[in-house]
Order: sequence, then structure tokens, then C-alpha cells
Amino acid sequence: MTSQNTLAYDVGIAGAGVIGLAIARELALRGKKVLLVDKGKAGAQASYASGGMIRPITECEHNQEYLDSCMKSSEMYKQYAEDLKTETGVDIEYRVSGHIKVAMTAEDEEYLKKKYETARKNGVAAELLSKQDVKQRIPFFSDAIRMGLYLPNEHQVNNRKLVDALLIAVKKNGVILREDMEVADLSTLLDSCSVVINCAGAWASSLSSQISVKPIRGQMIRFDVSSLDDLGYIISHHPLYLIPRNDKTLVVGSTVEDVGFDSGVSKEGMSMLKSKAIAVLPELANCPIIESWAGLRPKGEDYVPLIGKLSDRVFCATGHYRNGILLAPLTAQLAADVIIDDTETGIFDPRRFS
Ligand SMILES: Cc1cc2nc3c(=O)[nH]c(=O)nc-3n(C[C@H](O)[C@H](O)[C@H](O)COP(=O)(O)OP(=O)(O)OC[C@H]3O[C@@H](n4cnc5c(N)ncnc54)[C@H](O)[C@@H]3O)c2cc1C
Repeated sequence: MTSQNTLAYDVGIAGAGVIGLAIARELALRGKKVLLVDKGKAGAQASYASGGMIRPITECEHNQEYLDSCMKSSEMYKQYAEDLKTETGVDIEYRVSGHIKVAMTAEDEEYLKKKYETARKNGVAAELLSKQDVKQRIPFFSDAIRMGLYLPNEHQVNNRKLVDALLIAVKKNGVILREDMEVADLSTLLDSCSVVINCAGAWASSLSSQISVKPIRGQMIRFDVSSLDDLGYIISHHPLYLIPRNDKTLVVGSTVEDVGFDSGVSKEGMSMLKSKAIAVLPELANCPIIESWAGLRPKGEDYVPLIGKLSDRVFCATGHYRNGILLAPLTAQLAADVIIDDTETGIFDPRRFS
């Protein structure tokens, strides 16, 4: 990194979602002066809306190198959670819950068996469960279930607590955070920062026309499940997932919608999530829905995030689509490495489409 000595900051970051926050913390820990700017409230967009699941096998099998990176980031989480707890006092609820994917049709069964093979090929613990096995683990499961795939190493964090922890961490480490301040053009940040990094999530293309990132809406609902036994596991039946939280609520998601920058919820989305959740766990019909929301996943041209150099003083880290929480620890490292040491970012290189 070439330091422009007269400037106030080493690095300017546009966008304070989990990606901008994690990178700001990492750079500050490596001794850099960082300015972090968000057009709204830090962490209030996709990172707040997220499910917080860490599911490399489920989400990242599109190519082997990508899967390896996702596995690596997943393995970093235990230490990451401990470090954040020590640094900030916030428990991000890293929960080694395991994940059970269920099949309710013959087609689902084939899909689960393929996933099982992928997991085994990658040395990831996986177990096929009979209907009886699943019912034994979760007695209130629907009778329509045919089999399950248990992935014990798929975990979760509470993404909202992760944002809280990162916010405290960046402030403690001397990052200057400016909220409610839109970056209209990255060149304005370059007036006070040696280099800049575009972490503007679904809005990243408006700041860097070389990259293509679009918003994909996901709607979510939360049930109060205090009347039920703890589910214990993340459960999924594509495209639905159910995530038990420590506070006896159950987060259920999600839709995958190409509707531009509309981050509202719809009646159709809500009723689809509710009916599909009840089809999997009939007891949910008696549990109140206490919250609904939506967020915009930043999706690039493929499923792999865009992390690296765009030009001499401009970098980006965006396009994390369904895996921004999972990939936050690794992204922070990769981004700090490329900014400080000019390292290669391999499959994440944002110039791969040009
Ligand atoms: C419903 C849903 C469920 C999800 N579930 C999971 C999951 O279980 N596991 C997982 O790993 N991932 C999940 N994701 C994906 C994950 O949440 C995202 O990949 C991640 O939050 C992206 O983080 P980000 O910081 O890039 O974006 P964001 O959190 O959206 O942050 C971008 C920030 O940039 C700011 N910004 C934009 N433009 C400007 C500008 N011009 N100037 C200044 N600031 C600007 C915005 O205000 C925003 O705060 C989910 C996403 C959704 C929507």
C-alpha cells in the first residue's frame, strides 16, 4: 500500500454492513487509520436482515475453490466469536447447532443423497437420516417427511449481535464512523484517504461501474416458539429454512426475488413462508408471528463475491449474495491483505469479468 502521507486516513470504506465493518476492524487491528462511511445506519441493511447461518456445504458448492474458501471462513468463526467477545463483551451466539435438511418428495431424496456425496468428498461430516431418525430427534416434525441429511458442522451466529459486536470493535480500535452520510462518488473519499474500498452491498455498482451487483430480496418471519421444545437444529426444506435462536424465537426464511431496490415485505411472501413452515412443523400453527422483514442480498454475475483491486487506489468487497455472514472473517483478511500487501485474491478477483 502506497501511503499518501498528507491525507488524514489510510483507508476509506463506503458501506458499513458486516463486510465494511469486518474489514474496518481488521485494518484497524493492523495499525491503519480508517474512515468508515454509511449512507444510513451501520449494519441496518442485508446484514441486519440476514439469517446468520454458516452453511458452506449447503450454499457454496458451485465450484471447488469457492467451497474451500467458504469452509475456511466457517472454520475461522469459533475463534472470531471468541475474539469479538473478549474485545467487546458481546456474545454473537455462535451456535454449533448442526443442520438437518429434509426430503418430502422423491426428488428431494435424490438431491439430499447428492449433497451427502459432496460433503463426504470434501471430508465434511454428514449423515443420512431415516424418517424415524428425524422424528426421534424432532418429535413434532411433519409426518410427510421421508428422510433427512444431518450436517453437524453447519452452524449459526446471531447476525444482529455480530453487527453490534463489530460496531463496538471498530470504535474501540479507533475507526472513525460516519453514519447518515452518502458517498456520492468514491473520488470524494480519495480526497482524504490513501485508498478506498467499495463495500456498498447491493448498491455497489452505483459507486463502481466496472462491477455488476444487483439486489435480490429475501423476506423473513419470526415465530415466538416459547411454547415448544427447543428445535436444537437449523432445519431446511428448500427454499425454506428455520433457525432456532437462543431467545426461544424461530427465524424462518426466505424468498429469493428480483424486484429491484424494494425492501418491503409482501402479503404473498409472508403467507408462503408461514404455510411452508407449518407444512414442515405443524405445531407452528399455534405459535404467534412476532416480526417480519426483508433485505437485499448483493448478487454479482456469479455466486462468488468480488474482493480485490479495481484500480490503483480503489478496491471492492461486495457481491456476497447468500453468504456474507459466513464469509465475513475471511473477507476481512483477504481485503486487508490485498490493500496492505497487494496480494492476489484468486477466484474473488473483481476484474475476472473484464
Ligand atoms: C433474508 C436474507 C437472509 C440471509 N441469510 C444469510 C445467512 O444465513 N448466512 C449468510 O452468510 N448470509 C446470509 N445473507 C446474506 C448476507 O446477509 C449478505 O451477504 C451480507 O449481509 C452482505 O453484507 P454487506 O455488508 O455487503 O451489505 P449490507 O449489509 O447491505 O451493507 C451495505 C451497506 O452499504 C451502505 N451503502 C450503500 N450505498 C452507499 C453509499 N453510496 N454511501 C455510503 N454507504 C452506502 C448501505 O447503507 C449498507 O449499510 C442473507 C441475506 C438476506 C437478505
